[in-house]
Amino acid sequence: MIQHFNGKFDKLDEVKLDKPDKESIIAALKDIDTKLVSAKSGEEAIKTIKEYFTLSDDLSTVFALIYIRHTINTKDPTYIELNNLLDEIGPSINEASNQVDKDIYNSKFRPELEKKFGKLYFEEVALSMKTFSPEIVPDLVEENKLTSEYVNLISGALIEYKGQKYSIPQMGKFTNSLDRNTRAEASKLTWAFYADNDDKIGDIYDRMVKVRTKIAKKLGYANFLQLGYDRMGRLDWTPKDAEIYRKKILDYIVPLSESICKAQKERLGYGADTKYYDYAIFYKTGNPTPKGTPVELVNDAKKMYSELSPVASKYFNFMVDHNCLDLVAKPGKAGGGYMDYIAGLKTSFIFANFNGTSADVDTLTHEFGHSLQGFLGGKQDVPAYRNPGMECCEMHSMSMEYLTYPWMNLFFKQDTDKYKYQHLCDAITFIPYGCIVDGFQTYVYEHPEITHKERKAYWRSLEKSYLPHKTYEGNEFLESGGWWMRQHHIFENPLYYLDYTIAQVVSLEFFNESRIDRDAAFKKYLNFDELAGTLPFRSLLKKADIKNPMDDDTLKDVATSVMDYLKQFNPSELDK
Ligand SMILES: [Zn+2]
Repeated sequence: MIQHFNGKFDKLDEVKLDKPDKESIIAALKDIDTKLVSAKSGEEAIKTIKEYFTLSDDLSTVFALIYIRHTINTKDPTYIELNNLLDEIGPSINEASNQVDKDIYNSKFRPELEKKFGKLYFEEVALSMKTFSPEIVPDLVEENKLTSEYVNLISGALIEYKGQKYSIPQMGKFTNSLDRNTRAEASKLTWAFYADNDDKIGDIYDRMVKVRTKIAKKLGYANFLQLGYDRMGRLDWTPKDAEIYRKKILDYIVPLSESICKAQKERLGYGADTKYYDYAIFYKTGNPTPKGTPVELVNDAKKMYSELSPVASKYFNFMVDHNCLDLVAKPGKAGGGYMDYIAGLKTSFIFANFNGTSADVDTLTHEFGHSLQGFLGGKQDVPAYRNPGMECCEMHSMSMEYLTYPWMNLFFKQDTDKYKYQHLCDAITFIPYGCIVDGFQTYVYEHPEITHKERKAYWRSLEKSYLPHKTYEGNEFLESGGWWMRQHHIFENPLYYLDYTIAQVVSLEFFNESRIDRDAAFKKYLNFDELAGTLPFRSLLKKADIKNPMDDDTLKDVATSVMDYLKQFNPSELDK
């Protein structure tokens, strides 16, 4: 028997969970597949597909609960075992459900199915079929191995600093130190790790580029570029659109971003001696911090959402009341933060590690933005329609960070303006960086034959265009173009990055509109949440009445409005 969830529960941490059994899951999927293939009418096929969706929800709920509980306490032996079990049975379950997807796609009742479930579902299946063939399985294994090789090398790094050993993320507290000597030393030591492993990382990446190119050729593509787009389900935009968009960023955003960096440089007060590691510090008096305990911050968020919107308030309170937030850092808990939607329980869940920084507040806005989209998108019957494509997911979360601006004083008190100014500046300066990551990968996959040294030189040339204030005097490795080796997306999620910049621009659009009419902007936001993944990127934005950052003068208009807003702040005053 497969455990069934009926959408009802009291406390998330008390939901009973049975150990999943591989054989019965595969049998259930095969049973559905047989019924589907032998269906005598469209009606029968539709009924079977609905059963398939319910089964998928039950399975994804089991997977989600195991993952959540394992990350909350990575030392709990029950969930260590269950998590290992998922790694083991996951691929076979995927294989069986891929077979069902294929048979839905090839069903002789296709017109009736399209009428019932929509065309998009079939287009998505078609695209994912195009990116796979049994012939490439050994190459996919190789690709995964290379990813692990990179991850293991980086996560295994131990940097010795003042007699202690630190991982790269742990070095972050020193590279962001307000003390300049600490910052300089820590930064040099961190980059020295990459410089020492320059050839090794270069070789891993070279093999990755080559195997991805080989996969693309076997599948009939000219190179990996379009395959990368297809893998991400980008149905209605192309590398050409990205190229035009990057050019617009160069023209409109780079000058604004540079003016922000120039002001930062003046504030820091090192003049011509400003070094690359100094830009890690936005204010010489330190970053704005939330004032309050985690419990107080959650109560502030409750108040904020109750004033923002009844819908947001309803779901936020639901999450609090049903223990769907695990926010405080504790021993044994995994790092980072995420939101997961649990289909069988019809709820979102937020995982975080509060540490007293402004990121704690971002969790309560950003991750709740994902959560609200989860709740509203969760009303879709077709699981594939509940989430939008990867370029749109972050729009929901990032926009919430701005739609909640009028309440930031609840969290930041005297630091409120300090927070808003930095948060908006970071948004603008991030966009050119995102372009470098995308432009670099595009070039690399179009020219898979170039050497590691040439790749680095190309990266450095992009930095000079998009982040011209960056100079690396005294650091030969960075001057030769080595920065990208720490950008893990380049290795793990090829060609996924420009998405963040697109989402950033859309979130700023919401910000600008909310300053004119807060209620109208939020209504539009909720409508966008509800549309979820029912349309591909371009049509989705159009239907939600959101201007596409890639089109017309959207980018220029959005950025100009944000820069006007920023004029009210006096950053030197904020930094006192
Ligand atoms: Zn996010």
